[in-house]
Amino acid sequence: MEQKKGKLFVISGSSGVGKGTLLKKLIEKNPKLEVSISATTRQPRPGEIDGVNYFFTDKDEFLKEVENGDFLEWAEFNGNYYGTKQAWVERNLNKGRNLILEIETKGALQIKNKMPDSVLIFIMPPSIEELEHRLRGRNTEDEETIQGRLHEVRREIECSKNYDYTIVNDDLEKALVELEKVINSVIH
Ligand code: ADP
Ligand code: 5GP
Repeated sequence: MEQKKGKLFVISGSSGVGKGTLLKKLIEKNPKLEVSISATTRQPRPGEIDGVNYFFTDKDEFLKEVENGDFLEWAEFNGNYYGTKQAWVERNLNKGRNLILEIETKGALQIKNKMPDSVLIFIMPPSIEELEHRLRGRNTEDEETIQGRLHEVRREIECSKNYDYTIVNDDLEKALVELEKVINSVIH
């Protein structure tokens, strides 16, 4: 019998909205979902590990891989490049695995164009003030980087109208339940 292909979920939302926190909890409860590890030219934050959080690379190497056609999607965000490896996604979807890409909006729209069956989920902050509070509270970026990230927020929220689902991350547990509900409705 032919292997049923897995589903591809794309999760986006502005920096500091809680994507990483939500995904960590989602994966703990649903170990069969797999999260793609992106390549990036951004510097690792303290505690981030190469091959776990990202594949950290430099601009020359990244652009070489772009030229080779290695990326399913890629984008520049706040001065750095980020991309998803095509081979990993194809291999795992063909094995029937359900995958999650946590990527920004330009990349998400590239995925939707190439793979219309993909499911786009946008995580919305309760307010822009709360988003800024969380981003600053995380204490991982300098002021210039925080300003750069806040600068992208309105464009990203505007872009959420192209998504299949929007979930507000106000109460974390409620947002997690909603996210699981969306994913289960697609998988089952
Ligand atoms: P992102 O991955 O979207 O950039 P993070 O997951 O790193 O965001 O979350 C940013 C900060 O906000 C973290 O300090 C996290 O603990 C906090 N946070 C996440 N979700 C919530 C929530 N629902 N309520 C309050 N704080 C939250
Ligand atoms: P961060 O630097 O905070 O880890 O990520 C910055 C932004 O890049 C986030 O919106 C994150 O979702 C996005 N991102 C991470 N990996 C990828 C990727 O492979 N492709 C794209 N297009 N965006 C990514």
